[in-house]
Amino acid sequence: VPLGSLRRRVATVGDLDIAVASDSPEKVIEHFINYPEIKNVESKGERMSTVILTNEVQVDVLVSDADSFGSLLQHFTGSKQHNIKLRELALDFGMSLSQYGIKQKNKLKKFDSEEKFYGQLGLAWIPPELREGKEEINLAARNSLPNLITVQDIKGDLHIHTTFSDGGNTLNEMVEAAVELGYEYIGISDHAPSVTNRGMTEVIRLMDDKREEIDRINEKHNKIKVFYGYEVNILKDNSLAMPDELLEKLDYVIASVHTSFDMPRDEVTQRVISALENPFVTILGHPSGRTINIREPMDLDWNEIFKVALKNKKILEINSQPTRLDLPDHLVYDAMKLGLKFVISSDSHSINDLMLIKYGIDVARRGWCGGKNVLNTLSYSEIRKVLLTK
Ligand SMILES: [Zn+2]
Ligand SMILES: [Zn+2]
Repeated sequence: VPLGSLRRRVATVGDLDIAVASDSPEKVIEHFINYPEIKNVESKGERMSTVILTNEVQVDVLVSDADSFGSLLQHFTGSKQHNIKLRELALDFGMSLSQYGIKQKNKLKKFDSEEKFYGQLGLAWIPPELREGKEEINLAARNSLPNLITVQDIKGDLHIHTTFSDGGNTLNEMVEAAVELGYEYIGISDHAPSVTNRGMTEVIRLMDDKREEIDRINEKHNKIKVFYGYEVNILKDNSLAMPDELLEKLDYVIASVHTSFDMPRDEVTQRVISALENPFVTILGHPSGRTINIREPMDLDWNEIFKVALKNKKILEINSQPTRLDLPDHLVYDAMKLGLKFVISSDSHSINDLMLIKYGIDVARRGWCGGKNVLNTLSYSEIRKVLLTK
């Protein structure tokens, strides 16, 4: 079982820590240090070892007896803030916590599962994604933690590129791959063709052809339905890269910033607000514009953005691309508290990308979202109403 930030599904992790329950720790350690991708074994003890992989990632393994495995998992999953608050609670009961168990009146009680460990403190088991020292301990005491979304709740994916723009697979290939995943629907959201470059007549012709192709799929397919959308750039001058009279022809529109991220707070906030006030925009795509470890998020006034999005009934995207994970989890939490709704999207550029949606699920869970906060958990007929009444 992974430990620490990996188990809590934090957007970025450093070292990897893994816990193993076994009554023959020496065999586990021996097996671990013989893993082929290891560059160097840094340390090797009876129950612990540290290695550096060929990709420079450090991995620690910890072996524990099965009867205290729950305590070990709890201790090393963290976060630090969560464990500090948990320790304060334990102190009120005259207990002290460690990786070995819970001590009361000098007697150590061991726990083979986390459920029992938390249970000893009068708490429901807390999903690792929530262990950040917010209000999870209070809610666990009242058994009223949120029922977090899972990947099985997802009924469709609304951010998909095809060979009509920069995708690597055709519309039909994407449709068939989505059928394989058991989706009820997908939304095709290629980058919108440029009217400036191609001219109005040409763009209308392209759109009509594509609409025809999508209609054909929808007629013949009894397993899946396709929505026709575009991902439209929010330009520097606050306008959208496609005129309203063309946006009107679509089932839905994702508006995204792809250029000039580095604008002053007021200007960039107004730019996104202008998109949120456009009646044809349905979803705000990768709202912060960050690329993890490469590009900082835009300097947006989130209070203002969330207020305008709520007023105009716009949906916020949780983009699942591992380099984006955008909206970031702490902002998902804030927006969720305000009552905003999300879609979790893969932003697929090939059939293999479709499975990336699980990383967006991680973000949503870290933002305390249940199925009811995420609109692509709705059935086809329900999501159709949401998208087409826009
Ligand atoms: Zn995009
Ligand atoms: Zn995209």
